[in-house]
Amino acid sequence: MVRVTLLGSAQDGGVPQAGSVHREGLDRRYPVSIGLVDSNGGRHLFDASRYLAEQLQIWNQTGVDSIFLTHAHIGHVDGLTLFGKEAMNCKGISLFCSDIMLDLIQKTPIWSIMLDQGVFTPYGNNIVKLPGVTVEALKVPHRAELSDMHAYIIKAEKSLLYLPDHDTWSETLNGHDLRSWLNHLEIDIALIDGTFYSYDELKNRKQEEIPHPPVEQTLQMLGERREGDGEVVFIHLNHTNPLCMDETPVTELGWKVGKEGMSFSLN
Ligand SMILES: [Zn+2]
Ligand SMILES: [Zn+2]
Repeated sequence: MVRVTLLGSAQDGGVPQAGSVHREGLDRRYPVSIGLVDSNGGRHLFDASRYLAEQLQIWNQTGVDSIFLTHAHIGHVDGLTLFGKEAMNCKGISLFCSDIMLDLIQKTPIWSIMLDQGVFTPYGNNIVKLPGVTVEALKVPHRAELSDMHAYIIKAEKSLLYLPDHDTWSETLNGHDLRSWLNHLEIDIALIDGTFYSYDELKNRKQEEIPHPPVEQTLQMLGERREGDGEVVFIHLNHTNPLCMDETPVTELGWKVGKEGMSFSLN
């Protein structure tokens, strides 16, 4: 049995976000993360947020055997230190990430000391074979101040795409159409960037400053879910995203909005 569980459905800042005005009826969401259990029961965490304690409870696990990192933006890495001496005191967790990400870890004192102490054993992230499942990294364009960005394709009998962040569909798809790209990658379940519903949410911040393709554009590209289509689940929601309160614009087309605890069997 190979299973993926959604452990966080929010953008890096979480919902509510620090400093945001309290809104009645707004469910708490943790920064984006997924947990994969392989066919031998091995536990693999994708992105490590500061809400690790709560997220492990959602996953019903008390530890992890490996961690895959997508990129260095805060919500994806600010839980890494929780595996060290001051908290879980782990040893020998396999850490799969890109060379650029590993270089940053080695240059960042609070992380490099964890390599020295043997908390993490680093590996590349190209193609990782695990019991009953293979994980492939897919480089995608995303603002790269600190590191590059890799989505992951988790392949067992079914394939799941984990694409929490990217800048624009035109760059990611590189001339392809979204549906044919998903078909070409043979994706059955796509967890994709749903940060903003539309750019109206950005108010005073410039679009170039926080580039993510808006959900309304993605929905336009997808159209209605047809027979034989896989699942598309929007994740990485910003606290301003109206989908946090009302999922209808997505669900009426047959797609889904991610929520903590959702799980997907890959065989
Ligand atoms: Zn992010
Ligand atoms: Zn990011």
